[in-house]
Amino acid sequence: MTTLHPRLRAVLDDVPAYVPGRPPEALDGLVPYKLASNENPFPPLPSVVDVVARAAASANRYPDMLSTELVAAVARHDGVPPEHVVAGPGSVGVLSQVLTAVASAGDEVVHAWRSFEAYPIVVRLTGAEPVPVPLLPDGRHDLPAMAAAVTERTRLVLVCSPNNPTGPVVTSEELEAFLDAVPRDVLVVLDEAYREFVRPEAGAPDAVALHLERPNLVVLRTFSKAYGLAGLRVGYGLAHPVVADALRKTAIPFGVSTLAQAAAVASLEAEDELLERVRSIVAERERVAAALAEQGWEVPSTEANFVWMPVGERAGELAEACSAVGLSVRAFAGDGVRVSIAEPEAGDRFLEVAASFPRV
Ligand code: PMP
Repeated sequence: MTTLHPRLRAVLDDVPAYVPGRPPEALDGLVPYKLASNENPFPPLPSVVDVVARAAASANRYPDMLSTELVAAVARHDGVPPEHVVAGPGSVGVLSQVLTAVASAGDEVVHAWRSFEAYPIVVRLTGAEPVPVPLLPDGRHDLPAMAAAVTERTRLVLVCSPNNPTGPVVTSEELEAFLDAVPRDVLVVLDEAYREFVRPEAGAPDAVALHLERPNLVVLRTFSKAYGLAGLRVGYGLAHPVVADALRKTAIPFGVSTLAQAAAVASLEAEDELLERVRSIVAERERVAAALAEQGWEVPSTEANFVWMPVGERAGELAEACSAVGLSVRAFAGDGVRVSIAEPEAGDRFLEVAASFPRV
């Protein structure tokens, strides 16, 4: 007997599932560490928690739909006009607004691969076709190949810098050359979810300034990583006012909660303290990366809050070895393992696993 159910869009058959990072298993005598979602190991500052608690007292009211205070705070912080700023429920929420604004069935969206898992999902949901372009062997974007993949049907190119899960940035020169090569009516998203962890010497572009010169460039930023607010869901996009208007139209009404708006504003106010934490995470990353190199591992140079272990078919095996010592990491089958940077004790334990993991 056939089951009757409402007709669903056929594209849903091709939408890959988003697999979230698992919590670590509790093991006797070992503190478990979650290194699977690139989260900030520090909880929000007490001053931020206070603001959120106070905001909760008015939760019977809908939030400010345009996140006016947050947009003004971001505009001051980044030195751009407020018309350029669009807040959303996480930067992935803003990305979904971008896709709704530009792509539909028959269109193409070019992105690097491997990159952020959500890209092929949000692209397919519009009915458009994702066009993945392989990374270079060192985990960097192959921007000339991505420019060459642009066709008449391309509506959007996604550039992730630092790239999740491999870690390198796109340099300023690379991005400018790429923007010169791409038609002006094709939107380019620069996803800078990990921007605050990038060292100045990495050569990353000044994306804020660049988007003021390039109307087809949208910059995505988030409060989930450096600012430690992943659980509240708030991020933003910087875009030319015409594009920004479109992103406000494609937003789900009231997507950013009152609590999230208040926490993000308070976090910008407490930025010095939060960036001190970011510096400690960057120092820990450098320590872990140097120790891996010392052990003979060749890993991509990372500017984010994670390291990439390109172990190919043995990704599951390495993730299991981590799990056996209370660390949950993210394995990408057949490709590698991404390990978030967190407490030094977690880093030490991971380095022990890496040291004894057989190389081939
Ligand atoms: N972009 C990249 C590259 C990411 O890795 C992530 C989070 N894993 C996001 C965007 C989404 O972040 P948010 O929590 O702001 O939606």
